[in-house]
Amino acid sequence: MFEPFQKKEDEFFIIEEWNQIDSNVIAGFTTKNGGYSKNEYLSLNCGFHVGDDRNDVQKNRLHLSNKLGFPIEGWVGAEQTHETQIVKVDELQRGKGSIEYESSIKHTDGLYTDKENTLLTLCFADCVPLFFFAPKVIGIAHAGWKGTVNGIAKEMIQKWTSEGISVADIKVVIGPCICKDCYIVDNRVVSQVKQWMDSTSFLPYKEITSGQFQLDLRKLNQIILEKSGILSENISITNYCTSCENSEFFSHRRDQGKTGRMLSFIGLKGERE
Ligand SMILES: [Zn+2]
Repeated sequence: MFEPFQKKEDEFFIIEEWNQIDSNVIAGFTTKNGGYSKNEYLSLNCGFHVGDDRNDVQKNRLHLSNKLGFPIEGWVGAEQTHETQIVKVDELQRGKGSIEYESSIKHTDGLYTDKENTLLTLCFADCVPLFFFAPKVIGIAHAGWKGTVNGIAKEMIQKWTSEGISVADIKVVIGPCICKDCYIVDNRVVSQVKQWMDSTSFLPYKEITSGQFQLDLRKLNQIILEKSGILSENISITNYCTSCENSEFFSHRRDQGKTGRMLSFIGLKGERE
């Protein structure tokens, strides 16, 4: 099966295909390895909000900044709240949320920009990272089950097309997240998934015992993206599961809530200012 993410260093995977299309684009997903954090955050925790030592998280982020060759001054992070607010990032927001949580963009789960020297970053441990790319525009979204069923993927597409970007030019990668075998939910969740289904839809969930369902969040996001007009051939889906791959990733479910966060990132490198 095609895998959009290639391991580049101990610390991260890269979406190689996009880098080949435009050598200014760098997009990827970090691992939990190669950092400074201790205990349950061992070792490359990128989340400031999970109880880890702030200095360690800063050291981890600076270490990544060096490895990626992307200066921390250009990073942008958001206070993720499992909702569907999406913000277009301009020069004034560069650096927000990069080395402390307090300055991160409030109440936001999706970021996009057409500005160079800007690295959009969001934190993950099981939720679905969605990466978006069209010529000279990049975006990223955080889609747990709530963000997914509330249509953050569709929201991003609508923002882009309202700015004149052709939907046929938008590529999307669905990144490492919890797989259907590891993600069991109840009817409260599945009842909200059904709003996206029609008679022809492949069902992204399966009842395994009474009232307990496996839910495939990747498949559900794929369905929503296709319903929003994204061409099937422009959607790539990872095979990596954050819960199955214990040696590579933190997992909120597997680690019972006390764990670190990986960073999803996408940036346009450009002329240094
Ligand atoms: Zn799994």
